[in-house]
Amino acid sequence: MLHRSRKDTSGAVSRLGNSRGEEPPGAALRGLLLTVLLAGLSLPASAEWLRDARPMMGTEISVQLWQEDREAGREAIEAVFAELERIDRLMSTYKEDSRISLINREAAEHPVVAGEELYDLIVRSLDISVLTRGAFDITYDSVGRHYDFRAHQRPDAETTAREAELIDYRLVQPNEADHSVRFLKPGVRINLGGIAKGYAVERGAEILVERGIRHAIVTAGGDTRLVGDRRGQPWIVGIRHPREDDDVVLRLPLEGEAISTSGDYERYFVEDGKRYHHIISPATGEPAAGVHSVTVVGPDAVITDALSTSVFVMGVDEGLRLIATLPDYEAIVIDAEGRIFYSDGLTPP
Ligand code: ADP
Ligand code: MG
Repeated sequence: MLHRSRKDTSGAVSRLGNSRGEEPPGAALRGLLLTVLLAGLSLPASAEWLRDARPMMGTEISVQLWQEDREAGREAIEAVFAELERIDRLMSTYKEDSRISLINREAAEHPVVAGEELYDLIVRSLDISVLTRGAFDITYDSVGRHYDFRAHQRPDAETTAREAELIDYRLVQPNEADHSVRFLKPGVRINLGGIAKGYAVERGAEILVERGIRHAIVTAGGDTRLVGDRRGQPWIVGIRHPREDDDVVLRLPLEGEAISTSGDYERYFVEDGKRYHHIISPATGEPAAGVHSVTVVGPDAVITDALSTSVFVMGVDEGLRLIATLPDYEAIVIDAEGRIFYSDGLTPP
């Protein structure tokens, strides 16, 4: 069984608290027993559980919720999809006309107004860079933009080395006064791929709660935000086997929390026996090695998303040491040999 226990969090970082200063929804979970279930649990086939899934943000977004009034339930699901589409329009580097694309085109020449919402997420990303000593860095995109995983395209060694020089979150200068962003060198680019889906599911869950929904699950690829429980039972979230598509390594019962997994199997191709995947080590510009997947559990999906990417880059030892300093956050790391490591707030089976 996985026990979740209290950690010694003296000196813990308060920067991670969400900006609205609410009691983190996961607080109630402290001390919850995380049981590893061996058998799969399927959802009750009740008429009041509503579910929908759509391709969006380069992945599948799914929303499932309990609402006795079906009409209201359907509307709530639509509201979540509409919100995620809005976020994607704002934050996708794949969309030429997104605000972030404008920043990438012009911020080296002059400050570009990001708007409060995008500005806040950029600043949170920069804070996480400080916390993770640069393992998480949204400027990874100077290298990242040269990858096309579907087309099996990657930068050559020379391009990687040159562009890696531009990976440095300190080259992004935010200005609170007008919510603008400026790059201190030409060629700097930012990409919120390591945090935007967490933000999206967090916003999705917020919208459901505003509408009075008390049991729901919002998932965007590897990022999931839970609202409440599954009506008297915890939600069961599986961590998939990093190499066997349909195999689940662990199942975690969770309530009201967020869980994010970063894996080297999400977007990748193999060339000459080497796996090129989508999580870039800012220090080298190369895909981070040593780990197959990282799962982070905690109250805020923005943080679990960013931390799963960060711990992936940091590796088992440094990554788990970071998690040990964070109240409410736990991690499960599967290394390149398939060994499973747990943060110190979890007692392994
Ligand atoms: P996904 O949910 O898409 O699998 P992850 O949370 O695992 O994403 O984050 C991977 C994504 O984060 C990459 O696709 C890329 O957009 C972005 N990314 C890659 N390396 C870094 C890094 N070192 N710091 C911040 N973001 C990164
Ligand atoms: Mg992530």
